[in-house]
Amino acid sequence: MESSEQIGRHYDVIIIGGGASGLMCAITAGQRGRRVLVLEGSNKVGKKILMSGGGRCNFTNLDVLPKNFISNNPRFCISALKRYTQWDFIALVNKHGIEYGERDLGKLFCLDSAKDILNMLLAECDAAGVTIEVNRKATSIRALQAGGLSGGFAVDEFTCESLVIASGGLSIPTMGASGFGYEVARQFGHAVLPTRAGLVPFTFSDKFKDVSERLSGLAADADLSCQTAAGTANFSEAVLFTHRGLSGPAALQLSNYWQVGEAVVLNLFPTESADELLDWLLALKRTHPKSLLRTLLAEHPTVRLAKSLVLELQAELWEKHADTALAQIPDTALALIGRGLQAWQQKPSGTEGYRTAEVTLGGMDTTELSSKTMESNKQAGLYFVGEVVDVSGHLGGYNFQWAWASGHAAGEVA
Ligand SMILES: Cc1cc2nc3c(=O)[nH]c(=O)nc-3n(C[C@H](O)[C@H](O)[C@H](O)COP(=O)(O)OP(=O)(O)OC[C@H]3O[C@@H](n4cnc5c(N)ncnc54)[C@H](O)[C@@H]3O)c2cc1C
Repeated sequence: MESSEQIGRHYDVIIIGGGASGLMCAITAGQRGRRVLVLEGSNKVGKKILMSGGGRCNFTNLDVLPKNFISNNPRFCISALKRYTQWDFIALVNKHGIEYGERDLGKLFCLDSAKDILNMLLAECDAAGVTIEVNRKATSIRALQAGGLSGGFAVDEFTCESLVIASGGLSIPTMGASGFGYEVARQFGHAVLPTRAGLVPFTFSDKFKDVSERLSGLAADADLSCQTAAGTANFSEAVLFTHRGLSGPAALQLSNYWQVGEAVVLNLFPTESADELLDWLLALKRTHPKSLLRTLLAEHPTVRLAKSLVLELQAELWEKHADTALAQIPDTALALIGRGLQAWQQKPSGTEGYRTAEVTLGGMDTTELSSKTMESNKQAGLYFVGEVVDVSGHLGGYNFQWAWASGHAAGEVA
């Protein structure tokens, strides 16, 4: 076994990656009196924290449940999430006097800026005596003792007793994302599950691309669904039309479940049953026999469809009746139109990919990691936390909660 003095500066814990999970892990280990070094490859720590939540960081959610997370091993996340909860993080935010507010569905955002969260983490790192080095991309790792035994590690010119991989996934390469964590996992004999972009807008190459381009910037409350091997995935939130296709919370959420080749189905009257919608259309026919459907559709009492969207729907669903008075449209045709409004089916050609994805789905297989400590079962002293692991959250602060909880779990023992 090599001695650490032969190699270079020694720390108790080295953490590779100064993102959300790495900083939380550093704070927790530092507070235990461990000498901690964070190596960050880019010129700044916490870049994704700063860009998150449109600059206001949706740092957690009031309701955190296992069903808000996606993993090949769905129970893996439970232990860490139970031991460092949303309430623990909220207490930290309160301790620093950061103002925040709840948006829809329990999402908590900073009222001022995401900088508040990063500054809070940096202040805690400082108080815990953590050393942070930026522009320090880790390139090579070696276990100092063979056979998976705990003998420490060499990380480039540094050595340490415990090594934490917090280098994130592949999303947003311009923010420092790298496949480094997966390489380390493989180096130590771990399996890496196939990765793909998650929480990412859909793109289209058929005529719906032109539709979304014309509607670009328009948001509508909708139910968006697709078929999966396990049944129907369905999200009821806003959909945003963009130059390239569909974005907005419902589309981002659905992208985690969508498979190439599947259609996505938009229900633009999600609060109505099929019968209620048809009854409304038939009532309109009686009360406004001389009116056009496009004029009345935009006047539904609860569903506010923009006129531009109604025109696109007309072109697709009732073009031949576009200028027909309602009284002349057969009931059967109205039933078909109603069905179309609740199941406007479109086939994405793909997604915007890692360039804009908020998370990476898949990643390091959790079956050989301790769910309590995040330590590798194959190499003593080696830990994996955050997005590099095969746990991804829904939109709504869940990905940060996973980063805080998994970073904390490793920080308690590393
Ligand atoms: C645009 C955007 C908005 C988001 N908004 C939200 C939100 O509001 N709420 C939410 O819960 N989640 C949000 N997310 C997801 C969230 O940011 C991530 O889930 C979270 O940052 C993952 O934390 P992490 O520590 O695992 O990885 P990261 O935050 O990605 O940190 C990994 C760090 O490792 C560094 N690194 C990589 N390789 C090396 C190497 N070889 N050597 C040294 N350093 C290396 C990287 O530079 C990076 O700083 C958003 C993501 C994006 C992209």
